[in-house]
Amino acid sequence: MVQFTQEQEMIRQTVNRICREKLAPKVGEVDRTCEFPWDIIQEFAGAGLRRMFFPVQYGGLGRDLVTNAMVVEEIAKFNTATAHTFCGIANSRNPLLLTGTEEQKRKYIPMLIRENGVTCLSITEPNAGSDVASMETRAVKDGDHYVLNGRKCFATNGSVALLYFIFAVSLPEEGAHGISCFLVEKGTPGLNAGRVEDKLGLRASNVAELTLEDVRVPAENLIGKEGEGFKICMVTLDKARLDAAAMGVGLAQGALDYAVAYAKSRVQFKQPVAQFQGMQFMFADMATHLEAARSLTYEAARRLEANDGSASMFCAMAKLFSSDMAMKLTVDAVQALGGYGVLRDHPVERIMRDAKILQIFDGTNQIQRLIIARGILR
Ligand SMILES: Cc1cc2nc3c(=O)[nH]c(=O)nc-3n(C[C@H](O)[C@H](O)[C@H](O)COP(=O)(O)OP(=O)(O)OC[C@H]3O[C@@H](n4cnc5c(N)ncnc54)[C@H](O)[C@@H]3O)c2cc1C
Repeated sequence: MVQFTQEQEMIRQTVNRICREKLAPKVGEVDRTCEFPWDIIQEFAGAGLRRMFFPVQYGGLGRDLVTNAMVVEEIAKFNTATAHTFCGIANSRNPLLLTGTEEQKRKYIPMLIRENGVTCLSITEPNAGSDVASMETRAVKDGDHYVLNGRKCFATNGSVALLYFIFAVSLPEEGAHGISCFLVEKGTPGLNAGRVEDKLGLRASNVAELTLEDVRVPAENLIGKEGEGFKICMVTLDKARLDAAAMGVGLAQGALDYAVAYAKSRVQFKQPVAQFQGMQFMFADMATHLEAARSLTYEAARRLEANDGSASMFCAMAKLFSSDMAMKLTVDAVQALGGYGVLRDHPVERIMRDAKILQIFDGTNQIQRLIIARGILR
């Protein structure tokens, strides 16, 4: 089981306090209006969370991935959309940090911290979802620039980001080895955010279409080497999957806590419904699967932090298990409230909608199974 250090526990309590006092009162409203509560990001920044996971030499506090998972879990207990956006803000494993040059890091990491900036990682296209290598967005070298053209979709933070990591094909004859990663600054002519998606869950997080029309990107903003985009995409997704796993654990804990409290106070047949064994067995299963997901999530965090050779497989396992657990647990949490479970007066229906998304983004759970099988069979 996970044992946090004294310092980690203090960080967890700070996150809990901010979320309880500032976020909890408005989670229902932001789900309805789809407006992200940006003031909460200011609160996080004030508590040092904004820069907590960036390396010290670029102005960060250099905390590890276990702490990162713990913070994401704690935010998701209150609101998964906020946890999701936080991951694009305190993203300690974005392409820039993983493979950027020293100049790129010195220029852009302090900028992200200073401006409270959000990043957007844009891989998916209308005709290239799970099959990333089939992307059609093109990057053509023109002197000391690349010119990008294409369409992206499902870009989290797509219309609010400060920095965009755009994946495009620059060597068309090389297949998956022809994809490159480009850092594009907000406001670059030709980069436009289109429709913001009206989603089932994570409704307050911003997910938009992007169009790229003759977007001129300085060659110095190529991240890694030309043709390394697919590799960069995969290592970046390891951390994204860890975040998704931590969100699953957090939202499931929130739903379980609520359902148990409700069942203790709801009286039928002259006793609290929590007294019925049928209900108790359901709660026992929920709690057991939740703890298993939590253990796997922190084990994946530990392995990724240590750059262990099995880390990718563990991140895929954690994402798969935690999101499937979160989906099942939240359906049961709704069940525990009976008819009241489907009303917006109670948070469990929102949490159930949020859980569904975790099974799809950052690679669907079918794709996670492919990654795990590849890890076992190699
Ligand atoms: C809320 C949200 C946020 C997102 N944020 C981002 C983001 O920030 N950046 C980004 O680039 N993308 C993002 N995505 C896109 C997400 O990663 C894709 O939706 C996902 O990878 C699946 O692609 P697709 O939707 O095109 O489904 P498809 O690839 O069309 O899949 C359709 C179905 O076929 C199954 N399938 C496909 N291939 C296989 C296979 N080989 N074996 C078995 N089954 C298979 C899938 O599992 C799925 O069930 C986001 C998506 C959502 C919903």
